[in-house]
Amino acid sequence: MKKRTRSRRPLTAWEKSAEFRAIAVATLRKLNAERHLLPKCKAKAKSTGDRCKHPALANGTCQYHGGRTPKGNDWHLTQWPDGSAADAETKLDRKLRAQQRAATAKARRMASMSEQERQRHSAWQKTHRPGRASDRARSKKERADAASFAASLDAPAAPISIEQARLANELQALRYKLAILEGEGIFG
Ligand SMILES: [Zn+2]
Repeated sequence: MKKRTRSRRPLTAWEKSAEFRAIAVATLRKLNAERHLLPKCKAKAKSTGDRCKHPALANGTCQYHGGRTPKGNDWHLTQWPDGSAADAETKLDRKLRAQQRAATAKARRMASMSEQERQRHSAWQKTHRPGRASDRARSKKERADAASFAASLDAPAAPISIEQARLANELQALRYKLAILEGEGIFG
């Protein structure tokens, strides 16, 4: 084995013990032997356009294609490490650093977007809020109601026929005449 020169991290129990390493190697060999039998990620790789070849996690995609994104009420919400675990603090630090990196990368991506891309992005964000599906469904209905109300205000009045227009005109003329006659006191 190549000697570590750069890492100052203390070796873990798994790394120190020959017996443990043998267990790890055997486990990995078994996994690699069975890997081709595991269900594959259903996502398409952006780089090649081909189906992703990674093994799928519980939701049918791999860890790079949203396989670790929680379902249900926790959809796209950050999953914090179990506080009672021995390495909870390390995991929390790692998670926070990863979030920071993601936020920086996102800010850079947003800065390089065109106005149209930015609008599309914010529209997507509006319709894909993290959390409960019922909340998303409710705001979807609210948006649809608001849109149909706005459309009803803009809708043009129903077209009228020439005959209707003639009658309306005649009615208006008769009312006008009536007002004059009443003013003259003929019906007095
Ligand atoms: Zn994948």
